[in-house]
Amino acid sequence: MHLHTVIVGAGISGLLLARILHDHGARVTVLEKSRGFGGRLSTKRVGDAVFDQGAQYFTVKDPRFAAWVEKWERAGLVAPWPGTEPTRYIGRPSMTAVPKALAEGLDVKREHKVTALGCCGDHWCVDVENHGCMRAERLILTAPVPQCLAMLKAGDFVVPEPLLSRLRAVSYDPCLALLVTVAGRTRLPATGLRREHGAIRWAADNQAKGVSPNVTAVTLHLSPEFSAAHYGRTEAEVLDLVRAEAEELIGAPIVGATLHRWKFSHVRETFPEPFVWWPEESLGFAGDAFGGPKVEGAAISAISLAERVKEELDAEG
Ligand SMILES: Cc1cc2nc3c(=O)[nH]c(=O)nc-3n(C[C@H](O)[C@H](O)[C@H](O)COP(=O)(O)OP(=O)(O)OC[C@H]3O[C@@H](n4cnc5c(N)ncnc54)[C@H](O)[C@@H]3O)c2cc1C
Repeated sequence: MHLHTVIVGAGISGLLLARILHDHGARVTVLEKSRGFGGRLSTKRVGDAVFDQGAQYFTVKDPRFAAWVEKWERAGLVAPWPGTEPTRYIGRPSMTAVPKALAEGLDVKREHKVTALGCCGDHWCVDVENHGCMRAERLILTAPVPQCLAMLKAGDFVVPEPLLSRLRAVSYDPCLALLVTVAGRTRLPATGLRREHGAIRWAADNQAKGVSPNVTAVTLHLSPEFSAAHYGRTEAEVLDLVRAEAEELIGAPIVGATLHRWKFSHVRETFPEPFVWWPEESLGFAGDAFGGPKVEGAAISAISLAERVKEELDAEG
């Protein structure tokens, strides 16, 4: 019987790792603090309006990721975004399609927030809010790095130098996502609009994208500078600040707005290697902080660490 592997985080990296290790015969449990699958691949429903509120699309360069994307495309979970060159892929019906499919048949415990990670002799004690302690012989962390370090600190686990300093150097930009419904049609390009200036960095019409069939629903991502400066403001305050710019871009009046705060959105400073594996402690780190600051980077990190862990599984027999 293989040792129990616990993965913290059900984003694309945690789920891909879990899928690969499970399919290789490992005993894997994924712990996820939120109610959904996908982490920063996230879809929000507000009434009849549907929004991709995190990653908007992904690109593919590495053949190891391309092999997965081909499978997802054949299964109808992703499709090229018509009119994009080089090709951008979008989820069908939304960006959470792939995480949901990856999670099928896996032991993924949602609404399980890990609060502390401590080393107890030959195994890990994983403290989960309202659920007590879970034992793990192998631990893989895919949450944003500052959150992983906080969990280890809360469990009195000391990460030695120089690894600690290298992990602490990883940093992320915040992103305020303003999800708005508008009266009538938008004049946004069907493949979204990226801007270099102003408070709004990205605007996409989820109806044109096929995500929100019945309601005109627009995702607005505000710039890192604006998001950092106004992170603590209320929904109404943020809307007030960007309404004129937004309506000018969209070409229609805003009738409803919901604010989502991404404290850790894009990785600004990445770790120099695609994953961390520490065999003496059976502890690993993966995610976009390691493989590169996008969906593909997170996936490559997961695929690379999975290859390393598979060697150990093979040795366990
Ligand atoms: C606004 C925004 C726009 C983006 N746009 C794009 C884009 O267009 N294209 C692109 O390629 N990439 C984009 N990205 C980046 C992309 O979404 C990420 O690089 C990728 O999804 C990261 O995946 P991950 O698995 O590494 O991390 P995550 O998706 O963050 O997964 C980590 C998981 O850990 C969970 N977690 C955290 N703490 C705990 C805890 N204590 N206990 C249990 N679980 C915990 C989280 O809830 C989360 O589900 C965007 C990101 C954001 C936020």
